[in-house]
Amino acid sequence: MNDGSGFDPESERQYLLQRVIAETRETGGTTGCPVLSRRVLEALAAVPRHYFVPAAQRDWAYADIPLPIGRGQTISQPFIVALMTELLAVGPDAVVLEVGTGSGYQTAVLARLVRWVYSMERIPELADAAARRLQELGYDNVTVGVGDGGQGWEEHAPFDGVIVTAAAAEIPPALVQHLKPGGRLVIPVGLPGRTQDLRLLSKDERGVMHSHSMLPVVFVPLIRDLA
Ligand code: SAM
Repeated sequence: MNDGSGFDPESERQYLLQRVIAETRETGGTTGCPVLSRRVLEALAAVPRHYFVPAAQRDWAYADIPLPIGRGQTISQPFIVALMTELLAVGPDAVVLEVGTGSGYQTAVLARLVRWVYSMERIPELADAAARRLQELGYDNVTVGVGDGGQGWEEHAPFDGVIVTAAAAEIPPALVQHLKPGGRLVIPVGLPGRTQDLRLLSKDERGVMHSHSMLPVVFVPLIRDLA
């Protein structure tokens, strides 16, 4: 509904979905994923992105672009959120670890699809704001933690899926260790300031990892708080 300001989240969301569908198709030759599943599209359609961006960015909330959220961080591009969610291929009983909560937007999309999302963010202010936002929107199957998500989250491991929304110079070993056999890890790998490689890793039933390059992407860096 239009709130009188000319901003109509419903029609903006429909427009965004069409953009995401088109971009998925256009990159399908590279990713091998030209079509998003209905459940991922429905989850994306159900999350009000304008709640996850600063007020000054609201007019662009449904543009298919990343936006600044403060502290030098960004809310991810919806197409990339949809693609990473699709690649994770998690079902309704899954328990997922997200590294890099940021605004909580990707967390909310995941929370609509799985049993529980554990999300780790290293900047306390962002973690607090995201946790509050998610609670206000009624997401009651999310736990947000503060710390270096590159260390995984041993207390809640193993996970059916692990999704990293910041670029890692190398794949953190703990994230592989905390993945169940049959589970998937979706992670951008590469150096900051350059194009990175979005990778899909899967752990087979014997615990052997298989890695596939999906798409060139640009993410803020995963910052390791090494002891
Ligand atoms: N998925 C988020 C969203 O939709 O709003 C966007 C995440 S933003 C691109 C990346 C986030 O990763 C930032 O909030 C950043 O502070 C966080 N981050 C970077 N290094 C981290 C680490 N080692 N552990 C946890 N979070 C980290």
